[in-house]
Amino acid sequence: MSTLQDNIARAQQYMQRFKEQGVLNHINGESVPAQSGATFDTISPVDLKPLASVARGGSEDIDRAVKASQEAFKTWSKTPGKERRAILIKVAEAIEARAEEIAFTECMDTGQALRFMSKAAIRGAANFRYFADKAPEAEDGLALRNDTQMNVTSKRPLGPVGVITPWNTPFMLSTWKIAPALASGCTVVHKPAEFSPMTAKLLVEIAEEAGLPKGVLNLVNGFGEDAGKALTEHKGIKAVAFVGESRTGQMIMAQAAPTLKRFHFELGGKNPVIIFDDADIERAIEAATFMIYSLNGERCTSSSRLLVQDTIYGEVTRRVADIANNVKVGHPLDPDTVVGPLIHPEHEKKVLSYFDKARAQGATIAAGGEKVGEEGCFVRPTLFTQVNNDMAIAQEEIFGPVLTAIPFTDEDDALRIANDTEYGLAAYLWTNDLNRAMRLTDQLEAGMMWVNSENVRHLPAPFGGVKSSGIGRDGGDWSFDFYMETVNVSFPRKVHQVPKLG
Ligand code: NAD
Repeated sequence: MSTLQDNIARAQQYMQRFKEQGVLNHINGESVPAQSGATFDTISPVDLKPLASVARGGSEDIDRAVKASQEAFKTWSKTPGKERRAILIKVAEAIEARAEEIAFTECMDTGQALRFMSKAAIRGAANFRYFADKAPEAEDGLALRNDTQMNVTSKRPLGPVGVITPWNTPFMLSTWKIAPALASGCTVVHKPAEFSPMTAKLLVEIAEEAGLPKGVLNLVNGFGEDAGKALTEHKGIKAVAFVGESRTGQMIMAQAAPTLKRFHFELGGKNPVIIFDDADIERAIEAATFMIYSLNGERCTSSSRLLVQDTIYGEVTRRVADIANNVKVGHPLDPDTVVGPLIHPEHEKKVLSYFDKARAQGATIAAGGEKVGEEGCFVRPTLFTQVNNDMAIAQEEIFGPVLTAIPFTDEDDALRIANDTEYGLAAYLWTNDLNRAMRLTDQLEAGMMWVNSENVRHLPAPFGGVKSSGIGRDGGDWSFDFYMETVNVSFPRKVHQVPKLG
């Protein structure tokens, strides 16, 4: 196995080109700076030193990218599904071939640990393969008959779409949105998060080298309030697939209202993991700690609220605290690291502020609750106990390796606490009572629930949240429903009586 020093040396090689050339936009097959010439730095969360300068796109760059995507749409939308499939499979293969470069770049830019990011490219490639295979039948529809008419439905790609992604696991999330859009026959303008722009540039280059025609996927870097806003306001963009915070979703909906766009929103979460005393406690603890302390807890489906039956609360929280204290915090490229640095000092400040809030509101910090070292954005895996569900640490999305443990008495109490949040993305339930599992999953307010399991994704299954956690679903055919327009054509089955007027 390679050592941290080997990995740092290799990462520096991968970073070199970004250092020299910067992270440029990518429009109509060309790497281009922002038209204004503006740039900003992306920094390493390990030591806060700049990794590269990034093109700071604005409305003029978005306009150029949208025009390129409109032109490319004329051909890509008419390219037979079988040909689109072949190209997208080549993209998947090319992603796999550059898996190490993608993983190392992602670690440096986001601070996520290599042990998880080494799978980012594999999962990204799986997204391309899965949706590519569905491209040949994407336009298929139904035949619906009545006495006089034969209605035939079919689907058409919607047009150029905007994809706006956040900074947590940016490569995987971008492929999850972009692959189905391209498989549907749409063209894309992608605005990645300003904190982690690098792997989006790799993706568009890899895709074009693998044969994706110019202009089908365009990339504009920049800030939400300028490049992101301009993308959501552009008349040429037919839909926005957005992953990010709930309040950004609200802004995007308002910005896009005058141009009546279709939305798919994947937003925040404060997901409960509910452990009853009849469950397999060992597995439940392992799953709960994995879902909050992996990926730095910067994960929309993290199990950030631990709801434990009061009969086992002491035992469970003691064991969770032990795990939190033993998880290795360190350099993201260290093969042993579980928790790397948080993405950015701004985000670190937000996470640290909850330690003060917890103390002020009377919660106990049973593990962690502090910054690690002086350099970089390292935070110790944390467990809060003695919490009630009204506290800010139980209601607000912290988006770090921070777990809030709340006791409950019985099923009704568990359900009440679980649903007492503005969010509704995911819920995890641990019990060996099948009837209880049926009763609770019927009433839990969440778009996705896992019984006796951590989050295990199945690409054909729907993904999305309820309440403030999102609008719409993707995954499987749901993605094609979003990126395509269903049309209906009615044919007469016999000569029928047309109504006569006058
Ligand atoms: P964010 O909302 O701050 O930013 C996301 C993206 O939106 C960025 O690219 C940003 O530049 C852009 N943006 C910001 N303001 C904009 C505006 N006015 N118009 C257009 N674009 C704008 O989110 P973040 O901090 O990057 O990511 C963390 C959030 O993402 C968390 O809330 C997390 O739960 C959520 N998330 C949700 C899912 C899910 O599937 N539900 C998955 C991953 C992350």
